[in-house]
Amino acid sequence: MKDVAALTFGEARETVLRRVCEGRKLPAVEEIALEAAAGRVLAEDIAADRDSPAVARSVRDGYAVRAIDVPGELAVIGEVRAGERFAGEVGPGQAVEIMTGAPVPAGADAVIMVEHTRRDGSRVICDRAAEPHQFINPRGCEAAAHEVVLRAGTRLDYSGAALLAAFGRTRAKIYRPPQVAILATGDEIVEPEETPEEFQIRNSNAHSLAAQVRRAGGTPCVLPVARDTVAHTRELVEKGLDADLLLLSGGVSAGKHDVVEEALAEAGAEFFFDRVLIQPGQPLVFGRARGRFFFGLPGNPASTMVTFEIFARAALELLGGQEETALHMPFARLTREFHHRPGLTRFLPARLSADGGEVTPVDWHGSGDIPAMTRANAYLVADAGRAEYPRGESIRVILK
Ligand code: AMP
Ligand code: MG
Repeated sequence: MKDVAALTFGEARETVLRRVCEGRKLPAVEEIALEAAAGRVLAEDIAADRDSPAVARSVRDGYAVRAIDVPGELAVIGEVRAGERFAGEVGPGQAVEIMTGAPVPAGADAVIMVEHTRRDGSRVICDRAAEPHQFINPRGCEAAAHEVVLRAGTRLDYSGAALLAAFGRTRAKIYRPPQVAILATGDEIVEPEETPEEFQIRNSNAHSLAAQVRRAGGTPCVLPVARDTVAHTRELVEKGLDADLLLLSGGVSAGKHDVVEEALAEAGAEFFFDRVLIQPGQPLVFGRARGRFFFGLPGNPASTMVTFEIFARAALELLGGQEETALHMPFARLTREFHHRPGLTRFLPARLSADGGEVTPVDWHGSGDIPAMTRANAYLVADAGRAEYPRGESIRVILK
C-alpha cells in the first residue's frame, strides 16, 4: 500500500480540503446557551431582531445641529445622553448638546465635535462648516431588521458571542462537536503514569493530539495504544472508525513493524496520499474507511503536532460544520541567516517576537525534541524551492 502518491504540501492540503468537503455529512444540531457558544460552530443563520442601530446615533460628543446653520452661533436648547431620547426638535439656529451613542434629535442632521466649539452660557459657537450626516450612524446602517448577520457554518469567536448578545439571542443552534478517535501505535509506547524501561517511551502524542483536537472544536476519544501487529492495530482501527474522524500516530514509516497502512487497508480503506514532501511528517497518510476520514500521522512528537496543525485541523473544522478553514501564514523577518536542503517544505519550531515582526529558529535535536517544541510559539515555514534565506529576509510563519 506504500506510495499511493507523494504530494507537495500545497497539493496535499488541497486534497484534504476537497475530499472532506465532497464527502462530509454535517453533524447533528443541538442548542446551546449564549455563555457557552464561543468556540462552537453555528448551525443556523442569525438574523437581526431590529435595525442596528435602532435609531440614528451620534458617534461623537458634541452638538446635534442643522448642517446649514454652521459656521455660526446657536442656541443650546437641551442635552441628550446615551440611554435617553430628546423630546423636542432642533429648529433653525438651535443645537442640542449630545453624547456619544445618544440618539440624534429630530431636526438635526449633523453632529459637530465638542473640540470644534466654544460654549458661552446657553449659546455655542462653531467656526467650522459641517457636512450633512457627519458623525451620525444612520438607523439600520450596520444591519436592517431580519437581515442575516451571521451565517451557519461560522465558528463563533468573541465577536460572534457579542453578536448573539447584541441581537438578543440567548440560545443558538450549533453543530455537535465531532468525535475524534486518537489511536497511538507502537510496542515501545507506555502510558505517562508508568515507569518506562530505558527503551520505552511515554505516550505523549495522545496528549498533544487531544489538546489540539479540543482547541479545534472536537471531542477527543483516546483509544488504548495499538501494538505493532496488523491484527491488534486493525481491531482498534475498527473501534476508531466509529468516531467522526480517526487520528493514528506512528507506524506509517517504511519500517518492518510499521503496520498502520496494512491494518487500515484490511479495514477497507482507500488512500488519498501516503507521502507528502514536508518535514517533519513526510510519511503522512490520509484516506477514508467506512465513510470516515483518517490520518496516519507520523509518530515523532513534532511530526504528529505539525501534521495535525497543517492538515488534520482543517479536516476536523470542516467535519465540524465550518464552511471555511484557514491556515494563516504571515511573513516575519529572520533574525539570523537560515538555510535548508530544498525539496521539502519545512515546518520548524521558532520564536516570533512580541511585535510579531521577527522570527528566530529554535535550536532543536529533531522531531523527537518535545522540550524544544515547548520553547517555540510558531513554526517557520521554509519553502521547498528555496535553500538560502539571508538574515532580515521575510519568511512565512504559522502561529503555534
Ligand atoms: P514510528 O513512526 O512509529 O516509527 O514512530 C516514530 C518515533 O515516534 C519513534 O521514535 C517513536 O518512539 C515515537 N513515537 C511514536 N508514537 C509515539 C507516542 N504516542 N508518543 C510519543 N512518541 C511516539
Ligand atoms: Mg512505531
